[in-house]
Amino acid sequence: MPHVIKTPYTVDVYDLMHRPGEMRERVLDITVPEDFGNAMIGVKAGSPLHVNLRLESLHDGILVSAEVDGTAAGECGRCLIDIQQPVQVEFQELFAYSSDEAFEYEVHEDTIDLEPVIRDAVVLSLPFQPVCQEDCLGLCPQCGVRLLDNPGHKHEEAIDPRWAALGKLAGFEGLTDTTPDVPTTPNV
Ligand SMILES: [Zn+2]
Ligand SMILES: [Zn+2]
Repeated sequence: MPHVIKTPYTVDVYDLMHRPGEMRERVLDITVPEDFGNAMIGVKAGSPLHVNLRLESLHDGILVSAEVDGTAAGECGRCLIDIQQPVQVEFQELFAYSSDEAFEYEVHEDTIDLEPVIRDAVVLSLPFQPVCQEDCLGLCPQCGVRLLDNPGHKHEEAIDPRWAALGKLAGFEGLTDTTPDVPTTPNV
């Protein structure tokens, strides 16, 4: 039984190990095995992640520079429709040969596991309040319709016309603003 369980995020580095100065580029096309992200948006299982890798052999270990491209799916934090947005992150991380505490990641049996680094970099790049568009108006607080789909949507204020008239007499113009049926009379 091998100790290292290979996943789509595992990369062999045996040809680079202990050869400082050697460098290799590699492309990883990952089909994401499990969802990851925050409560509102994330990269879903089955979706593709395209990873451009540069692997450099150093004295201490393997330096990984990566550009990750993919798509996150979730819902708009204001109007709750499904949204998708591109994920694009870069990171650089050293995978050390020794299990020195100074290094967070290690080379294990000639391989490196990019899963935690890719996941952390992507999750950090995701918005906590994703929106379908910057000016999303959200939902009507009274009836819940999506306001972007219903331009000009509003509710007649439930004010008895007699009260509206009283309001006008008392100078509370605001009360009549949303009742266009009432003819506007000039102030005398
Ligand atoms: Zn929205
Ligand atoms: Zn409404």
